[in-house]
Amino acid sequence: MTETAGGHITARIRASANGMGVDEFMQSAAAAYYADAKPFGREGDFITSPEISQMFGEMIAIWCADVWAQAGKPAKIMLAELGPGRGTLMADILRTARNWPDFQAALNIHLVETSPQLRGAQAAALGSTQPVWHDTVDTLPRDAFSLIISNEFFDALPICQLVWQDGTWQERCVIWDDTAGQLCFDLRSLQNAALAAQVPAHIVPIDGDIFEISPACRAIAGILGAHIAQTGGACLAIDYGHARSACGDTLQAVSKHKYAGVLENIGQQDITAHVDFDALATAATKAGAQRWPVITQEKFLNSLGITARAEQLVQKATPQQRGQIPLDLHRLTAPSAMGSLFKAVCWTRTGDNIAPTGFQDQEGV
Ligand code: SAH
Repeated sequence: MTETAGGHITARIRASANGMGVDEFMQSAAAAYYADAKPFGREGDFITSPEISQMFGEMIAIWCADVWAQAGKPAKIMLAELGPGRGTLMADILRTARNWPDFQAALNIHLVETSPQLRGAQAAALGSTQPVWHDTVDTLPRDAFSLIISNEFFDALPICQLVWQDGTWQERCVIWDDTAGQLCFDLRSLQNAALAAQVPAHIVPIDGDIFEISPACRAIAGILGAHIAQTGGACLAIDYGHARSACGDTLQAVSKHKYAGVLENIGQQDITAHVDFDALATAATKAGAQRWPVITQEKFLNSLGITARAEQLVQKATPQQRGQIPLDLHRLTAPSAMGSLFKAVCWTRTGDNIAPTGFQDQEGV
């Protein structure tokens, strides 16, 4: 099925007069890829934090319960996860929530997921809990205090690549090279001219510089900003990316835990881009929310006590598991592993007296 999808995308590019924008290419390739439920985990193409260790979900559960407690323990919570993959993170959160019966009782679970196959995996992971699925964030209910979380969701959303050439922004696109008999990158005039005005003022490009803009990320962050401004609560996004907008080509493909050519095996490898956290937080702020500084995954997890939790798990572990726990902790928090490239950002409702753990007294990065 995915092979056919790849062939179909290539055929569309060959038939187009001026190529396919990077955004459309990414969207088509990602849709074909996520239609398959197998990509995640140690056996799949890549492994995400919740799949590495239960400690990740436990820390997010603590973070959520703390925001809820600071807000005066409202009786009803809309807890939503965006792009839940195999459902591991939400399953760990719900298991941890049993420690706080009032919190657990208040939860209503909503999942934003487009892939029918992954919805099936999520249903299986959540057992007797019956979530409500949504195709987009627009339909998340706004009738209750809301906690909206995501891990590696925004990196999967399409980006446009603006390329500075001869004093103007052009756009990177994918074309069919007849001589080479393969797909390759090319430049064309910017199809959505309004994007040029969205490049921040501190960017001073030289010829060939690439500036990435994800209209999809910005639009979703705006909707989630307006959501939290209306309901109270918090939105938390964890992903890999940069805290401050900068030039650079971050489009990447990963297959079987290795980087691969972006234009190869279309629809059969994970295609993503680094997240521009500043752009996300700015969009949420414009929609009325209060942003907190962007922090590293290391700071985030450490502020929630992941080291103490790892020690506790080691005490209870079998001899076989005992060696694995410190390795998992290292992978999640060490700057040389996922601790520094991965970052967290959150926003709350302006005026609410909430200081989210990890973000409240940080300088940011
Ligand atoms: N959060 C999971 C999975 C990350 S992969 C983890 O950490 O393991 C990205 C997830 O986002 C997948 O579940 C994918 O199907 C979903 N996704 C990608 N694009 C989406 C979109 N536009 N709308 C909703 N879900 C999307």
